[in-house]
Amino acid sequence: MPIKTIWAVTHGCGHDADHDLSSRPADQRAGYARWLAGRDCTACWRAQRDADGADRAAWLEQKRAAEQQAATEWAAKFRMPPLDGPEKAIAWGERSRHQLMAAAYRDLVVEGDLDENAWLDIEEQARTIDRASWWIDQRDAAPADLPELLAAATGEDRTTENPY
Ligand SMILES: [Zn+2]
Repeated sequence: MPIKTIWAVTHGCGHDADHDLSSRPADQRAGYARWLAGRDCTACWRAQRDADGADRAAWLEQKRAAEQQAATEWAAKFRMPPLDGPEKAIAWGERSRHQLMAAAYRDLVVEGDLDENAWLDIEEQARTIDRASWWIDQRDAAPADLPELLAAATGEDRTTENPY
């Protein structure tokens, strides 16, 4: 008797579905059917995937918006210049700048022994770098390395003349 090609599978989600396994070698159909039974049916799998995607996207969008707002307020408060670059890079650069500067202040001044005046110099240097891409490039840098990173920045990282 030939091995059946249509297999009735009860999926992990509880739904029954018939699967045409004729494209699979006869000796692999039972194993494949068992594998299918351990998974949700296609409809449930798709629904779950879409829900996950939507949740994640909404969560990420919300998180970004909050970070963006914080970065904008921070930039205004500390007179940080607008960044230069493509629109997407500007927003990302602003968030990266805010996060790196805030973390560096924490590591160097709050938890470190840098005094406020030395920090103001760092801030002043940071103001001269207005290429969004520079800040994005430093997003994974160790915050305490900020003074060194700023010192390594070149004219390429500034749209205006270096005031120093
Ligand atoms: Zn299902």
